[in-house]
Amino acid sequence: MSPRETWPADWNVERLHADHAQALRITAEFYDSATEHQRLRVFENPTFGRSMTLDGVVQVTEADNFIYHEMMTHVPILAHGAVRRVLIVGGGDGGMAREVLKHEQIEQVTMVEIDGTVVDFCKSHLPAISAGAFDDPRLDLVIADGAQFMRQNADLYDVIIVDSTDPVGPGEVLFTDTFYGHAKARLASGGILVTQNGVPFLQGAELTNTMRAFTALFADATCYLATIPTYAGGPMAFGWGTDGPARGVDVTTLRQRFEAADIQTDYYTPEVHLGAFALPPYVSRLIG
Ligand code: SAM
Repeated sequence: MSPRETWPADWNVERLHADHAQALRITAEFYDSATEHQRLRVFENPTFGRSMTLDGVVQVTEADNFIYHEMMTHVPILAHGAVRRVLIVGGGDGGMAREVLKHEQIEQVTMVEIDGTVVDFCKSHLPAISAGAFDDPRLDLVIADGAQFMRQNADLYDVIIVDSTDPVGPGEVLFTDTFYGHAKARLASGGILVTQNGVPFLQGAELTNTMRAFTALFADATCYLATIPTYAGGPMAFGWGTDGPARGVDVTTLRQRFEAADIQTDYYTPEVHLGAFALPPYVSRLIG
């Protein structure tokens, strides 16, 4: 395709990076319009199934979301070992809540999503992602800006999961020192903050910025990795910040907690959990 040609209309083209794009063929389109905050598109792709993009960027697909959602939930929850209250910032598709609510000992899950239209469309057109999580009585859904909520809310949480868009548009404020400082203040003793932190190979500065802030805030600040096929550019990084001992938990203890939780997973295992913190030099150089 010469530079002058454009992609056919039945392809979603993600242009998150200056010289690197990802395109998904659309075989059926269910929605494509602007919400109060962003352009929401829901469509069918033969390989990845029903998929959602915001401002053209892939947020979730039926086929590969399990990797991302399992690693951002079971890693902090099983590492902590006694989680009762969880806060999810973003997560409008409901996949993060789905995995958190698999843990029966968890009493309260608060989800703060800025865009109610995303939630409504994911409920109606991507029900497999949330799999009933929105009907769980433990879930408290708040439609609000996560940064404002974090500033004003007084509750404490054992785990805070920031499942946000990239640091552009409404998601930008969720990558600031101020937000991270407010999030730390909402953590109970031994609490853990995990953040969606982009693909280091293409978004290295984003990870460096977050890790600089986490290192100033937490006794234990690092990241862990997993590769999600439709988050283009290699492994995605998840920011990890805590003052507690959670990262020192051994594989035997993790295995006991995983078996006691009795949850079905397709990516997460205690061994994958520990391996995810083994960082290649190009990533460890980024986090300093
Ligand atoms: N996994 C995806 C990724 O890595 O790009 C994120 C998926 S999730 C759908 C992202 C959600 O963050 C969206 O529903 C978006 O509306 C929400 N969001 C963006 N900025 C927000 C903010 N300031 N407060 C709360 N939610 C926000």
